[in-house]
Amino acid sequence: MITKQLTHPESIVVVGGSNDVQKPGGKVLKNLIDSGFSGDLYVMNPKEDEVQGIKSYRDPSAMPDADLAIIAIAAKYTPDTVEFLTTHKNTRAFIVLSAGFSEESQEGKIYEDRVVEAVNKVGGSLIGPNCIGIITPQHHSVFTLPIPKLDPKGCDFISGSGATACFIMEAGIPKGLRFANVYSVGNSAQMGVEEVLKHMDETFDPEKDSRIKLLYLETIEKPGMLLKHASSLIRKGCRIAAVKAGSSEAGSRAASSHTGALASPDTAVDALFKKAGIVRCTGREELISVASIFTYPELTGRNIAIITHAGGPAVMLTDTLSEGGLSVPPIEGENAEKLKEELFPGSSVSNPIDFLATGTAVQLGTIIDFVENKFDNIDAMVVIFGTPGLFDIYDVYDVLLEKIKTCNKPIYPVLPSILTAKSEVDYFVDKGRVYFSDEVTLGKALSKAFFSQAAEDSELLPPAVNTALIRKIIDSCDDGYLHPDLVASLLDAAGIPRVKEKVVSTEDELLKATDELGFPVVMKVVGPVHKSDVGGVSLDINDDKRAEDEFNRMIKIRDAHAVLLQPMAKGIELFAGLKREDKFGHMLLFGLGGIFIEVFKDVRTLMVPAARKEIVSEIARLKSYKMIEGIRGLKGVDVTEFATIISKLSSLAMAAPEISEMDLNPLLGEGKKILAVDARIRIEN
Ligand code: ADP
Ligand code: MG
Repeated sequence: MITKQLTHPESIVVVGGSNDVQKPGGKVLKNLIDSGFSGDLYVMNPKEDEVQGIKSYRDPSAMPDADLAIIAIAAKYTPDTVEFLTTHKNTRAFIVLSAGFSEESQEGKIYEDRVVEAVNKVGGSLIGPNCIGIITPQHHSVFTLPIPKLDPKGCDFISGSGATACFIMEAGIPKGLRFANVYSVGNSAQMGVEEVLKHMDETFDPEKDSRIKLLYLETIEKPGMLLKHASSLIRKGCRIAAVKAGSSEAGSRAASSHTGALASPDTAVDALFKKAGIVRCTGREELISVASIFTYPELTGRNIAIITHAGGPAVMLTDTLSEGGLSVPPIEGENAEKLKEELFPGSSVSNPIDFLATGTAVQLGTIIDFVENKFDNIDAMVVIFGTPGLFDIYDVYDVLLEKIKTCNKPIYPVLPSILTAKSEVDYFVDKGRVYFSDEVTLGKALSKAFFSQAAEDSELLPPAVNTALIRKIIDSCDDGYLHPDLVASLLDAAGIPRVKEKVVSTEDELLKATDELGFPVVMKVVGPVHKSDVGGVSLDINDDKRAEDEFNRMIKIRDAHAVLLQPMAKGIELFAGLKREDKFGHMLLFGLGGIFIEVFKDVRTLMVPAARKEIVSEIARLKSYKMIEGIRGLKGVDVTEFATIISKLSSLAMAAPEISEMDLNPLLGEGKKILAVDARIRIEN
């Protein structure tokens, strides 16, 4: 819980405040003094009467009450101190900078638990332990640098790592990025990134609060809380970018289904971010680039005009934008000709708009006005303008600053001459704007931000499934892989179309089944999980003789207890599955199916529940999308039908949370006819 004593304390005590500003207890006090904290400030230090000019209490009981305590003493003394302050000094907020808690030892964990208990008992807030502190307009309670110049419209930044928080600020500040509030949560003993974001959501004031939230996460302990409040903030007009580090951890985990092997907790993070509309970044530079993009008006379409006086960067940017799914469309027609007349001979206006090395500030203004007012097919501009060092370019940046302020279309400035035009770039930043130094970095971040927008809430109801029947089946079965009969019943209850089938265990039954199904048939062993791997799948069987031979062979395969017959189905192989991920809930995975899915890993993931519209747009993002639609004589499938089957899986997962893994691999499809020919369901209560 975030209390007002944490955000707006009237009094702060630094426990362990010191004259040595190379120690956390000294530096945090100095930072507080330098920030001009307007309330009462005290120090608790048994050896001093005054520290850095601030009154220090040798005897804590003599000290007045303090709203917020910043703790910079050894871990082992911390629990007693916190208990003392909550009981005797009415302290309701704590920032514990010290390390040596749960991150270090079992003993440290005990100290940490005692601190949490003491703070919880009085309904107080606890940040840390093992953190750098927090920076708010009211107080700069960190023992580190840099301390950014705060701006209420800058970024709110919540970090699971203190050092990384510093390095992210280091990367952003020189580019002009500003911050509103910075929270480092350390061990997250009471509050993690999720809780701080929740607080920002619950107290969000559209007039006063920043609409840009940046997160650095190493773990997601409460995915539900993160999803809820990130989505809510985004609906309120905020934009969120996040780094979730540690994405490779789970690749090695054993899983027995295809879906299980393809999904990892990191897939779940992707799915959660996608659902919320959080832009997932891979590192500091990218986070800073996306945050910088957020400081400009939102990109509402994919058509970009590139305005430059240098060809190379414009070409590189064109490549990057196209690669990322954005577009640099041609600019032509009467207005383009008119614009050309305003520029030096040899300039090009066809997009990129290249107004040559001799291009002037006035020409830049003219170009931007044309793009803003006359070229309706353009949604945003990137202006790339540096200098070879012959003359200064303040006039150009003045025009740029003016146009950024007055135009409706976003204008992203790429200022590459960070050495030669350093003073002009500094001037640009001093005017309160953020710049990009590299066009390719900007281009990638721009695509990422554009395509990370959350799917709109679609009002369509999820497909109805026979919940009563699903529950009846699930309630009656044990953990492990379900028998094919139960799998078939569950598919039917969910309305997932499947190929006809007969299970036989004698030759008599076999003959009856082939009679009924008609040739050609497929025969599969019942028992082993991966049938092909043990020679347990035979396709295109055309007569009774071969059927009998195959039956007699398959029934002898290890673990075999019957043989399954199906008619031969036709079409391309698709794949859809479910995977339950600890704390996150169920993930849907889907893509092109068949035996190569683990090789190509061309799968898309969504969180359950997923609306059909979301599913359709994710199918379209598969690399194999063109094949799924049909290409060069290969008949594809009706994508809506495929999406419907996936949305039924989503409904099935809602009705049966006990499903831990499920595979439909393959679904064979042609046009509207898509049938599951192989399904596995694993139950884990
Ligand atoms: P497993 O995945 O256990 O090896 P499958 O039942 O998926 O076994 O069969 C392996 C492959 O055989 C499928 O990927 C598909 O290419 C093909 N196949 C299976 N059943 C049929 C069917 N009824 N019609 C056509 N091809 C099939
Ligand atoms: Mg299969």
